[in-house]
Amino acid sequence: MADETHEFIPYSRQEISDADIAAVTDQLRSDFLTQGPVGGEFERVFAERHQVKHAIGVSNATAALHIGCLVFGVGPGSLVWTCPNSFVSSANCAIFCGAEVDFVDSDPVTRNMSLELLTAKLEAADKLGKLPDVVIPVDFSGLPCDLSEMRALADTYGFKILEDASHATGATYKGLPIGSAQAHATVFSFHAVKIVTTGEGGMIVTQDDELAEKLRLLRSHGVTRDEGLMQRASEGGWYYEMVDIGWNYRLTDVQSALGLSQLAKMDEWREAREARADRYDALLADGPFKRPARFNDRVSSWHLYAVELTADAKIGRAEMFAAMREAKIGVNVHYIPIHTQPYYEKLGFTRDQFPNSVAYYDHALSIPLFPAMTDAQQDRVVETMLRLAA
Ligand SMILES: *Cc1c(COP(=O)(O)O)cnc(C)c1O
Repeated sequence: MADETHEFIPYSRQEISDADIAAVTDQLRSDFLTQGPVGGEFERVFAERHQVKHAIGVSNATAALHIGCLVFGVGPGSLVWTCPNSFVSSANCAIFCGAEVDFVDSDPVTRNMSLELLTAKLEAADKLGKLPDVVIPVDFSGLPCDLSEMRALADTYGFKILEDASHATGATYKGLPIGSAQAHATVFSFHAVKIVTTGEGGMIVTQDDELAEKLRLLRSHGVTRDEGLMQRASEGGWYYEMVDIGWNYRLTDVQSALGLSQLAKMDEWREAREARADRYDALLADGPFKRPARFNDRVSSWHLYAVELTADAKIGRAEMFAAMREAKIGVNVHYIPIHTQPYYEKLGFTRDQFPNSVAYYDHALSIPLFPAMTDAQQDRVVETMLRLAA
């Protein structure tokens, strides 16, 4: 059944239900637009769902990455490694802290940070006495990284893992939710295109009590009303203390009310995304496309379904992108490798330094995937792709 409507099909689209709208309007009528009880409730339910002790809501994932770096002591003189196949935030957070950034190239199969290249780079860095303080692996498209092996390397070489799971809300690794077991702290994004949304928003989770306390402080100006954290005796009921330099990175109660309502659908949506991914796998099997790899020990949240055009494609990626958009199909490209951005080039990085991420970028196309996608819409995407490329 072809989709004859020829409406624009976006690469991603949020799902907003009547229940979400009711949750937001109820919140607007309540006493708290921010810093009320719903923020804590959203954090509690998110933590429970990801089987992690602490979840700290923040204004976006970039803010979460920033304070995540800070609680691991990242500052001038520190070294942070991430993967070029990510959004710029994964590297920028270290720059915010005055640290030095370097990259570990992606793996051609997983498209995540290569375990092999990470291992080799650590061995070389160890000899030079230039080990990273923090490594930020990114669960690209929602597929968890090689987290057990990375944690073993972290324990050997003494760095912290700040996992960028902006794509991976609801994903699992070796039977456990992302954020619960391997990374020292894990970051999620609730931007409108992500798995669950608060419009803008983010969360950072950790099993570590001390880190959680510090993260809460940095999220809100470094200010505390908790006498246990104060350096002086309280001067009265009004008293608060600023004990560290912090930011205003708070998530509002209106956003949290939406997030809480969205969380109820998370598992259902993941299954719907996976069913679409399975169907793409089957329908595109004979086309000139390298499809996402599958692994038995991890469950993707399927934020993206990205293909790479193979040498057999009769059209280049740029032409394919333009023709798909012309056909009102909202394809996208994730990601322009971070190290090739003008800002990072000025820091001294060169394009050919991380060839896997560049080769991936040159052929990659993210095609529409969202929970409410219909068979007819998906058929139109597939038919258009095969007509153009096969
Ligand atoms: C979306 C995204 C971010 C940034 O998230 P915001 O909430 O928009 O700040 C960071 N890293 C990755 C991998 C992302 O996809």
